[in-house]
Amino acid sequence: MEINFAGKRALVTGAGKGIGHDTAKMLVKCGADVIALSRTQSDLDSLRQEVPQIQTVCVDLNSMEETRKVVSGLGDIHLLINNAAVSMLEPFTEVTEEAFDLSFSVNVKAALFLSQIVAKGMIARGNGGSIVNISSQASQSALKDHTVYCCTKAALDMLGRMMALELGPHKIRVNTVNPTVVMTDMGKIGWSDPVKAKEMLDKIPLGRFSEVDEVVNAIVFLLSDKASMIHGVTLPVDGGYLAT
Ligand code: NDP
Repeated sequence: MEINFAGKRALVTGAGKGIGHDTAKMLVKCGADVIALSRTQSDLDSLRQEVPQIQTVCVDLNSMEETRKVVSGLGDIHLLINNAAVSMLEPFTEVTEEAFDLSFSVNVKAALFLSQIVAKGMIARGNGGSIVNISSQASQSALKDHTVYCCTKAALDMLGRMMALELGPHKIRVNTVNPTVVMTDMGKIGWSDPVKAKEMLDKIPLGRFSEVDEVVNAIVFLLSDKASMIHGVTLPVDGGYLAT
């Protein structure tokens, strides 16, 4: 299936590492002009070395003021991937306000207000757009020590449905991807312990974690016109975890 984003500008958050990094590269391969946003300049520098045509912006999404300023100046965006997130694991009785505030700020608040800025531009231009939010199986399944993370992802799932409801009439499609564990830096925080990993693997009917490119393929498909009637979904990329 050929997907071609020629003439489209895409903004990918959290593009310094992991899923966001590989999504940015795949979008370039599919012909998009890509803006990679992340927090660590050295990650963006190495991405630029790999793919020189990528534009990079170094922003901490935890600062709404900085985010607004930078994103408002980026010009037309046709494709948006809200991918950046943090995962801070704590048992429920030890959950801190710091983890709660930072996680909701980056995983939910930034996605909402960044989408608001981008959607206003799409509405003003009148020719629609496509947005994909990266959630998790954790939005729909309680995982030990993941209280705050699970709650942010549940909120993100609903944010995607609200955006679908209100942006659909403007020809802006909004969908959500819900991966299982992927062994990126974030995945390693939660699942490097082989005992914990086995417990999770035993609950995944396909018996393995996801590869990064399996998530990227789902994102690119949902962004593309091949998914032109798919709107407001939460798509598990989880080997069947949420089906059980
Ligand atoms: P990584 O931790 O590997 O990469 C996350 C990227 O987001 C990094 O480049 C990071 O930058 C950036 N980022 C984090 N906080 C901020 C911030 N405040 N401002 C700007 N950029 C920021 O994560 P993954 O690639 O694994 O995860 C990508 C998405 O997939 C996330 O939404 C995650 O919740 C979701 N997901 C991941 C799963 C997994 O097992 N890996 C499973 C299910 C969902 P820096 O490193 O500089 O902080």
